[in-house]
Amino acid sequence: MSDDRFLAGRHALVTGSTSGIGLGIARALAQRGCALTLNGFGDANDIARLVAELAEISGAATAHHGADMRDPVQIEAMMRGAADERGPVNVLVNNAGIQHVAPIDQFPVDRWDAILAVNLSSSFHTLRLALPSMVASKWGRVVNVASAHALRASPYKSAYVAAKHGVAGLTKTAALEVAETGITVNAIAPGYVETPLVTGQVADTAKARGITEEEVLRDVMLLAQPTRRLVAIEEVAELAVFLCSDAAASITGAVLPVDGGWTAK
Ligand code: NAD
Repeated sequence: MSDDRFLAGRHALVTGSTSGIGLGIARALAQRGCALTLNGFGDANDIARLVAELAEISGAATAHHGADMRDPVQIEAMMRGAADERGPVNVLVNNAGIQHVAPIDQFPVDRWDAILAVNLSSSFHTLRLALPSMVASKWGRVVNVASAHALRASPYKSAYVAAKHGVAGLTKTAALEVAETGITVNAIAPGYVETPLVTGQVADTAKARGITEEEVLRDVMLLAQPTRRLVAIEEVAELAVFLCSDAAASITGAVLPVDGGWTAK
């Protein structure tokens, strides 16, 4: 991309951007000069430091909204507040996500409901609220952070796999609905990326499978991934940036793996 600041004047909202992939995407977008709305949980001082850091990088208005992505009312308040304060959202990145690993007959019902709400339904709510202004301005970019689990299943991840397959379906449907309006809607499907979400599930997977944590990394996670290494956050973030560029205007409705060859199998 020739113009490093090609998103100057745009406003990007990234859900779940206080950590991991979402923070990586927010940083990469900030480097392209856009205003930002961050979202996600965390220590108030840490979040204030992040907001200041990203504002410094972008040179544009940056703020955080702590909406809980399980709650449509809070999502509506965030979308309205973000647009009122920093202008219509031009780039929407649906990234917030949680995980729980357990066999179906032992899967806690409240975990199922929370995973479906955060990993799938929140994207429907942000989309329905962001699309009208994107359509009005004849430009928009939606990037949904799905997973290789949008394309493949693994045992003990029923809610996550169901939600991520749902994200793929939502992505394709939305892309078709707005195909003639200058808006693209895509999903990125990462394999295992080195983030707190992955480190946190190593212990649970070890318990569910009756193996050690070292065996989970070597024989479960990196076994799935032919490159035998975790994906770097930047490798996901730079694809998100590319999808926001004019060069990607004909890429829509796609579910793009960044998975070290996992889904080639
Ligand atoms: P992470 O745990 O590092 O970050 C998750 C972010 O979501 C945090 O900012 C957290 O505060 C936020 N969040 C969680 N629940 C929330 C809620 N109810 N409301 C608002 N924010 C909430 O995780 P990550 O690994 O960076 O994952 C980000 C996305 O990438 C998720 O959708 C995940 O499914 C997907 N993904 C991750 C991997 C991986 O290997 N790490 C692989 C494929 C897909």
